[in-house]
Amino acid sequence: MDENNLLKAETHRDRVSTVTETGNRKWIYALKPSGLFYNYRNIVATVFLIIFITIPFVKIDESPLFLFNIPEAKLILFSRIFWAQDFFIFAISMIAFIIFIVLFTLAFGRIFCGWVCPQTIFLEFIFRKIEWIIEGSPMQQKKLNEAPWTSSKIFKKGLKHFIFFFISFFIANIFLSYIIGVDALWSRITGNIFDNIGTLVGVTIFTFLFYIVFAFVREIVCTTICPYGRLQGVMLDKNSMQVSYDYVRGEPRGRFQKERNGFGDCVDCHKCVDVCPTGIDIRNGSQMECVGCTACIDACDAIMEKFNFDKGLIRYASENQIKENKTFRYTSRMKAYSAVLVLLVSFILVLIFNIRSIDTNIYRVKGQLYQKVGTSHYSNMYSAKVINKTNKNVFLDLEVENQKGEVQIIGYKHLILEKESAKDFTIFVKIPKQILHHRNMDFRILVKKDGKIIQKIKSTFYGPFK
Ligand code: SF4
Ligand code: SF4
Repeated sequence: MDENNLLKAETHRDRVSTVTETGNRKWIYALKPSGLFYNYRNIVATVFLIIFITIPFVKIDESPLFLFNIPEAKLILFSRIFWAQDFFIFAISMIAFIIFIVLFTLAFGRIFCGWVCPQTIFLEFIFRKIEWIIEGSPMQQKKLNEAPWTSSKIFKKGLKHFIFFFISFFIANIFLSYIIGVDALWSRITGNIFDNIGTLVGVTIFTFLFYIVFAFVREIVCTTICPYGRLQGVMLDKNSMQVSYDYVRGEPRGRFQKERNGFGDCVDCHKCVDVCPTGIDIRNGSQMECVGCTACIDACDAIMEKFNFDKGLIRYASENQIKENKTFRYTSRMKAYSAVLVLLVSFILVLIFNIRSIDTNIYRVKGQLYQKVGTSHYSNMYSAKVINKTNKNVFLDLEVENQKGEVQIIGYKHLILEKESAKDFTIFVKIPKQILHHRNMDFRILVKKDGKIIQKIKSTFYGPFK
């Protein structure tokens, strides 16, 4: 690197890429990306958007696939309803998610930001595309912004912001349907506005929030606001895979001439900088502002192709790979991290799918001993607490395992529970005296739904001294 480049490389650390020397906002007019990675990102973004928009409408057994109703402490994951007492799963999932993010970032850098972060997807694949259609290329946008207010400028800006606001309103509604459910949202939209002021306020706040973020704040979310972006500096190391410039191959950089005369492969065309949505120069090394969007890889590959150089001057690589000129290797460290991630995800899935949707707890009523029933049986009194987290009414039957006795539910023939409710019952268990060989006899009560055993509950029966 010559002295000038060295100076540039060092001074870029004085401030964030989106701030001018005088401390003002530097609006980024990034060139439109194109190339192999951008095509793949387009596919990923399309799949993400389809999934994001359709998920609130997907129901299994009349229950939404996902619902994050924090205000009412109700969570639905894979159509399984979780109540406040199950929120430990949510807490464990959050901890696992943080570990996941840390491990994933250590191994694969900020790949999440560039490929699947909703902020990047909405900004790069919806809002920016609309801007290109209405205002033209980034250079035309710059010209338009600097031009005086004419009727054409007013029309273009007005149309763009109207569409931005409408899309923000749409996203706000989808977002809200993840919280209160699509049916509740629809009934509130079509209901009396004065009965649903809370929803109206929620939609309005989210709409303005999304509109401000995507129309004005933009990449500042990634470079300054997002805590994940701020933390990546401490999560990455020299083995982390990230979008990197191969300075060993590229330096010393110099304008293209037939004979490179001792120059590296970087022809200093500046395309990788012009295309960067956060306005950085990847040739200065790993930077906090890099969202791993791969636009510079595509831009540089096109230049390399043009000059008949090997592609990959900018590529996914770790610092150590670049320094030692090695090709990509799925290292044992990455394998170990991937294994941990698979274990974590499996653990959470096991938790999610093993929590009971219908749960019965049975306890002996304290201070009660046995009662004699006729000449042949003894009975004990129990208290049963039954929780029905499903969205259907349920009828349950109780039986003593192996027909060693019988269960009588006080006031009911079955345990009857309405959907999403909990209820306490009092039950008597009658056991024939000839099978009571001890003062305390362990036995199990079977909980049956539609004739099928859904739970076995261990309990103790107290009888007289022998
Ligand atoms: S696009 Fe490639 S060749 Fe052009 S300046 Fe960037 S690194 Fe150098
Ligand atoms: S440096 Fe490259 S990968 Fe990073 S944000 Fe800029 S264009 Fe995207």
